[in-house]
Amino acid sequence: MSTRSAAIIGAGFGGLALAIRLQSAGIRTTVFEKRDKPGGRAYVYHDAGFTFDAGPTVITDPDCLEALWRLSGRRLADYVTLLPVSPFYQLCWEDGFRFDYANDQAEIDRQIRAKSPADVDGYRRFLAYSEELFHEGYEKLGAVPFLNFFSMIRAAPQLVRLEAYRSVYAKVSQYIADEQLRQAFSFHTLLVGGNPFSTSSIYALIHALERRGGVWFAKGGTGALIAGMVKLLEDLGGRIELNAPIDRIEVEGGRARALHLAGGRREAFDMIASNADVVHTYKHMLRGTPRGEARSRALTASRFSMSLFVIYFGLKRQHPELKHHMVLFGPRYRGLIDDIFRANRLADDFSLYLHAPSVTDDSLAPPGHSAYYVLSPVPHLGTAPLDWAVEGPRYRDRILKYLNDRYIPGLLDDLVTVRHFTPFDFRDELNAHLGSAFSVEPILTQSAWFRPHNRDDEIDNLYIVGAGTHPGAGIPGVVGSAEATAGLMIADARK
Ligand SMILES: Cc1cc2nc3c(=O)[nH]c(=O)nc-3n(C[C@H](O)[C@H](O)[C@H](O)COP(=O)(O)OP(=O)(O)OC[C@H]3O[C@@H](n4cnc5c(N)ncnc54)[C@H](O)[C@@H]3O)c2cc1C
Repeated sequence: MSTRSAAIIGAGFGGLALAIRLQSAGIRTTVFEKRDKPGGRAYVYHDAGFTFDAGPTVITDPDCLEALWRLSGRRLADYVTLLPVSPFYQLCWEDGFRFDYANDQAEIDRQIRAKSPADVDGYRRFLAYSEELFHEGYEKLGAVPFLNFFSMIRAAPQLVRLEAYRSVYAKVSQYIADEQLRQAFSFHTLLVGGNPFSTSSIYALIHALERRGGVWFAKGGTGALIAGMVKLLEDLGGRIELNAPIDRIEVEGGRARALHLAGGRREAFDMIASNADVVHTYKHMLRGTPRGEARSRALTASRFSMSLFVIYFGLKRQHPELKHHMVLFGPRYRGLIDDIFRANRLADDFSLYLHAPSVTDDSLAPPGHSAYYVLSPVPHLGTAPLDWAVEGPRYRDRILKYLNDRYIPGLLDDLVTVRHFTPFDFRDELNAHLGSAFSVEPILTQSAWFRPHNRDDEIDNLYIVGAGTHPGAGIPGVVGSAEATAGLMIADARK
């Protein structure tokens, strides 16, 4: 099997996890990444002495990462240090109510009792439900390749019993009466691109995932975790090429034969996996092939998750009063979410996620300074075809002023550096269809077998890994998809 060679297009978490699995199994693996740094959505900016993680910051289920090192008898701790984050999140509302969501049952009970005594028992029942979802949906099915409809049918009775056809918000509301607490236990789907009012309740498993495995932060930032994965891959003998955009996948006789780089170079491989956006893979890289055309027609008819507007900023002061992860709810919840998923314009209000990593790790900013990012979920370009070149600076200024007035006094005077990333950047930098931040929207009719499969149904040595496949976006999701894809590729290599 050591004679087999594999190429992976894209160095996101999914692509790197797949590369590590293949290389650990003795398959010669090369990763081609279009950008100048690995990580994909987990890119890193270095501005004026600050380090900004571009994307994922909440590390859950560290065991799914540890497993990548275990494959070759190594230890993650020898490459990266994971620091526990507590509370997991601080949730803040405009009326002054705050909820510290920590991994401490007594502390959670105390805060719920103070807000809505009747919900203490309801929360316990919700947690038990979430635990069951975690077992059925994540432990049993999280890394299963749903290649045929039968695999879906087999899972169906459990999904029906757990009422997976209901939304996360609807299920949370069965257990919890207080509206702000309902928001506190349903907003998580937004972290993987799902609308809490239409995403299958199966995604309420995220609550149990966090309570079980904790919330972690890689010392030095998520970029340090990516660097650790790249080092592991290279220590195993794998190869990664940066600034290497793939233009085309050559298909002949029903098999993927070679990659054509944008510069004109051609490299042949036995197996090819794409970690790039699924629509980009079929529509652009397989253009001119019957399969590429048929698949891209079907995929572009899917629903895509929302986009994000992200501002990265550094301040010349520290704010130890902030928590590492903060969710700042605006005045509307359902109305705003409806606007984000359906409206063809930008809402006047917003709800934000604020990342304040300097409270955990002071290496990310110069001494006495602090690093941040703030993100606002916004419609993707198919929902609201805005001109972000014009809208971006205006939206940035509105959000920074809101933070300055409500949460970080003096922010505007203390700014040292600021940059932003818009739906245009998701589209142009990451080749994301419609500038979607999380790929195919995680609704029941686009889950499991209904998501793009880890192995193409017709080109049998072409594989897909990452947020567009089962189980979906988020680090544990794409690392799970890498496990499913690697299982198929390793088995196929042995045939
Ligand atoms: C702002 C933000 C915050 C997030 N926060 C969290 C969080 O806290 N926790 C969490 O678990 N998840 C979070 N997520 C979700 C998570 O980051 C993603 O779901 C996950 O990282 C996607 O990984 P992926 O493997 O699908 O690949 P991606 O990260 O999408 O990487 C794909 C790679 O393919 C490359 N590529 C594209 N086209 C080509 C081509 N033609 N040739 C070569 N290379 C190409 C791209 O440049 C990119 O590097 C966040 C996402 C965003 C955007």
